[in-house]
Amino acid sequence: TRPVDSPTIRAINKGVVHRICAGQVILDLSSAVKELVENSLDAGATSIEIVLKEYGQEWFQVIDNGCGISPNNFKVLALKHHTSKLADFHDLQSLATFGFRGEALSSLCALGDLTVETRTINESVATHLSYDHTGVLTSERKTARQVGTTVTVKKLFSNLPVRSKEFCRNIRKEYGKLISLLNAYALIAKGVRLVCTNAAGKSAKSVVLKTQGSNSLKDNIITVFGMSTFSCLEPVYVQLSNCCKVDGFLSKSGQGCGRSLGDRQFYFVNGRPVDMPKVSKLVNELYKGANSRQYPIAIMKFTVPTKECDVNVTPDKRKIFFSDESSILLALREGLQQIYSSSNACYSVNNFD
Ligand code: ADP
Ligand code: MG
Repeated sequence: TRPVDSPTIRAINKGVVHRICAGQVILDLSSAVKELVENSLDAGATSIEIVLKEYGQEWFQVIDNGCGISPNNFKVLALKHHTSKLADFHDLQSLATFGFRGEALSSLCALGDLTVETRTINESVATHLSYDHTGVLTSERKTARQVGTTVTVKKLFSNLPVRSKEFCRNIRKEYGKLISLLNAYALIAKGVRLVCTNAAGKSAKSVVLKTQGSNSLKDNIITVFGMSTFSCLEPVYVQLSNCCKVDGFLSKSGQGCGRSLGDRQFYFVNGRPVDMPKVSKLVNELYKGANSRQYPIAIMKFTVPTKECDVNVTPDKRKIFFSDESSILLALREGLQQIYSSSNACYSVNNFD
């Protein structure tokens, strides 16, 4: 062995730990905006506006008409692991909110400059709040605002040099990823109006996404992708087990896309947009059997009892573990095989909301 002196083990400085961990929750622009949009949805908003300056590089803002934040929460709002959504580990099994880890606002503080404007129905006037990089409230003043919350993040990643450079270099790619992610929320959220605008250079702000807040998946697909895309889809329904099912829309066998479009496949588990690489691979493979030249658009909603799936796998909650993944995949394979192999496909057309 090489001669190495046994080093002393020390605790890492709290501020450093905070910055290291924050970089795992907020990976990029889209995960930052995702956290804010999810907070707005959790707050019961029916209107959410995402405003970007220079594709989010300079600043971004999420404005909602949700329940607002009450004054007794102002001090702890951006502290690490402070949440109004989860009190006990067991709550994880019956979780109805997107958030539960109390990490988003504290991480955004660590990685950029966070300010909040908020008002609940019990206040006659709103409050503007600023937080420092450790999540401590540094200033508070009254301002005018309707009930709801606006969160603004300036200079994201300015204190993570490598990430910041990546962010600037790949800004168009980051922006595309963000739009695709917002599309996922626009598809799944019912009765929520979503608007995203971007202002770049000296030009006026342009509308990137605008939905009306429809109440059905079908109408949301038409709003996001247009009628011509929708008419190339067919409804799918597969009962995966006694208590698990999947429903949604898939490309008709002759009407897929010319190339592999990762941004045209959307998977949801109990209303949460997630990454499902194994399901995506399976869908592509089975579609290939019916149409070897194209790839399918897929918009699929899985309904699984919350106690049978674990969303607490990665800090960004995009990964899901199922207690019985292999039988779910097998049932899905059989269901989709039937759909794509028979001309009188066995999908159900009723019951689509
Ligand atoms: P989490 O969502 O996991 O609870 P966050 O750091 O995202 O953690 O948010 C911390 C808390 O701040 C939330 O639990 C919620 O009470 C409050 N909050 C954040 N954003 C909003 C919002 N847009 N409207 C109302 N409350 C909010
Ligand atoms: Mg949250």
